[in-house]
Amino acid sequence: MIVIRNARILGGEPRDILIANGLISEIGAGLGGETVIEAEGLIALPGLVDLHTHLREPGREDAETVETGTRAAAMGGFTAVHAMANTSPVADTAGVVEQVWRRGQEAGHCDVHPVGAVTSGLEGKHLAELGAMADSQARVRVFSDDGKCVSDAVLMRRALEYVKAFDGVVAQHAQEPRLTEGAQLNEGEVSGRLGLTGWPAVAEEAIIARDCLLAAHVGSRLHVCHVSTAGSVEIIRWAKSKGWNVTAEVTPHHLLLTDGCAEASPVGPYNPIYKVNPPLRTQEDVTALREALADGTIDCVATDHAPHPVEDKETEWAAAAMGMIGLETALSVVQEAMVETGLLDWAGVADRMSFRPARIGRLSGQGLPLEVGAPANITLYDPAVRTPVDPTAMVSRSRNTPYQGLTLPGRVVATFLRGRPTVLDGKLV
Ligand SMILES: [Zn+2]
Repeated sequence: MIVIRNARILGGEPRDILIANGLISEIGAGLGGETVIEAEGLIALPGLVDLHTHLREPGREDAETVETGTRAAAMGGFTAVHAMANTSPVADTAGVVEQVWRRGQEAGHCDVHPVGAVTSGLEGKHLAELGAMADSQARVRVFSDDGKCVSDAVLMRRALEYVKAFDGVVAQHAQEPRLTEGAQLNEGEVSGRLGLTGWPAVAEEAIIARDCLLAAHVGSRLHVCHVSTAGSVEIIRWAKSKGWNVTAEVTPHHLLLTDGCAEASPVGPYNPIYKVNPPLRTQEDVTALREALADGTIDCVATDHAPHPVEDKETEWAAAAMGMIGLETALSVVQEAMVETGLLDWAGVADRMSFRPARIGRLSGQGLPLEVGAPANITLYDPAVRTPVDPTAMVSRSRNTPYQGLTLPGRVVATFLRGRPTVLDGKLV
């Protein structure tokens, strides 16, 4: 039996939390247990759930593995992650998703829920074995060609129709391919000054609008990955006002950084550390995304943790890979962008980083309130410290964090997965 002493559940008054047999068995004052964890001043949150993680295994184990990626997740306070399908081989069959799911179980740092590809080989030509992946041991409910857009409207319609049979959801990477050929950075003043090919907001917004209409037409569930523009927010707000089954996520980096980082930043201009898909946008977009996350138009934060080895990032901008790591800094960035600004309280953070993503992914046993009888998936977080981001201290196999040179608030002190500590005193167990 473990007792966590004086933790502020969702930022409330200090309480003791007793853990027995993997469950929260009691919440109160003056509780005793065999192992005592002092949590004075710490916030207790439900274990975080990420809808969008690239673990890179199988195929790019030089960037990340299920083992290293789930360690990073635990360090970031996560107890469940969804592993994206753009691996090699692609996670487009029951065999591959079961392999990833099993590797997650073996690693044991957090639950791993494989995302199934929508189309075979992410080629956008034929639907993958959606039903077989749903029926597999991995019980896939989220399907995405992430990294690529399901741009064919007929295929997208068929996928939306198909997943209804098992209450699945299609998570779209909204990027009109013809409008983004050779695109490097948000189309605007900064891309113009830097001479980088522009990536227009409309390339994202046009696909989101089309897919909201398709989802409404067939009565299915659509989830929009990494929303990055103010226009996308307006479309999603409109779709929700119609009562359509549309959900959306925003990444920590789109809540904090702008395309201006590519021009002026602590690490100098043209640094591909800021190259990401979708691209960093303008300050107006950042403001709209924060407001949308606060008012619930955007349902959740998802990291889009995208590890790349040094040789793929430390090269010239046009040749560099797109993506940033984010699991270990997500909660700190959300504190900086949403809590310190007064837009969300800790209950709101729990909702956007645990409850809602678990619901969208149809997870049972994750994303539940910290109440007696619930699985003891708990993150203890110290919001009072501020530390410079140190890429060399991260446990991800990759180092491509865009927050190098910044000082961010907060630190995950402990993470519990069904009562078992995966992180204690800020270190892996
Ligand atoms: Zn994506």
